[in-house]
Amino acid sequence: MPETLFCYCCRVHHPSNEMCRVPTRHGFRWRCQRSIKAAQCGVRERDEFGRQQTESNRKGAQKAAERFFVPFHIRRLQR
Ligand SMILES: [Zn+2]
Repeated sequence: MPETLFCYCCRVHHPSNEMCRVPTRHGFRWRCQRSIKAAQCGVRERDEFGRQQTESNRKGAQKAAERFFVPFHIRRLQR
């Protein structure tokens, strides 16, 4: 019978060869590699989404800044 460990993420026992010991707020806990990978994918997608949002916000702000400040800038340079 294979050794199983309790996965705190799934709240079930998995075979020990699928488990990783991970640090948590309450000390080390066993967690299956599948749930770790799934969480990492989720984080990466969220990061990517957040980065794109930030990028589009930055570009929007830059365009707005150009629209408002460049004419003044040019006027000052022309003087
Ligand atoms: Zn699990």
